[in-house]
Amino acid sequence: MTKAHGFAAQSGDTPLAPFTFDRRAPRANDVAIDILHCGVCHSDLHTARSEWEGTLYPCVPGHEIVGKVTAVGGDVTKFAVGDLVGVGCMVDSCQHCSACDEGLEQFCENGFTGTYGAPDPDFGYTFGGYSDHIVVREEFVLKVTHPETDLAAVAPLLCAGITTWSPLRHWKVGPGTKVGIVGIGGLGHMGVKLAHALGAHVVAFTTSESKRQDALALGADEVVVSRDQAQMDAHANSFDFILNTVAASHNLDAFMLLLKRDGAMTLVGVPEHPHPSPSIANLIFRRRTLSGSLIGGIAETQEMLDFCAENGILSDIEAIPIQEINTAYERMLKSDVKYRFVIDMDSVKAAA
Ligand code: NAP
Ligand code: ZN
Repeated sequence: MTKAHGFAAQSGDTPLAPFTFDRRAPRANDVAIDILHCGVCHSDLHTARSEWEGTLYPCVPGHEIVGKVTAVGGDVTKFAVGDLVGVGCMVDSCQHCSACDEGLEQFCENGFTGTYGAPDPDFGYTFGGYSDHIVVREEFVLKVTHPETDLAAVAPLLCAGITTWSPLRHWKVGPGTKVGIVGIGGLGHMGVKLAHALGAHVVAFTTSESKRQDALALGADEVVVSRDQAQMDAHANSFDFILNTVAASHNLDAFMLLLKRDGAMTLVGVPEHPHPSPSIANLIFRRRTLSGSLIGGIAETQEMLDFCAENGILSDIEAIPIQEINTAYERMLKSDVKYRFVIDMDSVKAAA
């Protein structure tokens, strides 16, 4: 075992603070990773504050992990000491159910092991990436081929990137499709970049007029301020696909009405309070689909990382020391981040 230093929430209503805990010694199929950067996902905030209920405390969040391999077990074949690697939202799954067989570990029929807060035989439950190192079985470690100098801006790809990539691919977004991305935050800004890179006509929907120029720079062809009804009406019945990343309860019908016949909207945001029930008439009269999507499998996460490396795609980030995590959460709640906070883990190591 080794001692890990990180930051944890001790309850839903206390700020995150320094916390020391144990990591297992690497097993034969494990990779030990020195964490260099970890992105700050809105799911971390939902969990740390127990907005989804059931959070186990102390809670060390963090599932957008990038770093360098420091040791590998004897059976590890894909990684060597010194490799740049990533770890996303999962660190284990059964590896033998029909979902795992298809490379869809996020839908493991026996329950995947989340990077934090999931049952763990050694320590009760898992601790995430707001910490200086982690030990993960080889199958859940991703190869990073971006230049090392870009590493901090790669971290958000491990959740925000794959969570937008997977539904864009599933719904066959590409040249000739008109795609809406709702909510230009951590997930949404990656959704705009990826849909643009896949060749779609991209419309960014934001509640923040101040993000208009940024959204165009991220790759949107058009920007709609969703609080302006006239701007919304101008796009009625016109979208093939809408990816909704909003982290708060809102009126889904406003977006369902923008889908053309057989169009689909996928929700990835998981708000604390439910959305008002959408209108059934809006669904049946144009055979529209409302669906959901959960992160993505390991193989498609690697596919997305490789696509981003080949196309020079990174997250737009604001680097922070871990001591600023509580302020970062407050700013994220005000949509005041361009567009992902990423913790520089030197700040943990310096304080340890
Ligand atoms: P984020 O950075 O806070 O972005 C959310 C964006 O939603 C905000 O930037 C804002 O964009 C918009 N928004 C916020 N409040 C709103 C409101 N009241 N009405 C309308 N729009 C609002 O969060 P994130 O990290 O991207 O995560 C988004 C959601 O996805 C969270 O609920 C998170 O837990 C969830 N998530 C799900 C998965 C999955 O697998 N399904 C994976 C990761 C995260 P504008 O300023 O542009 O309006
Ligand atoms: Zn996340």
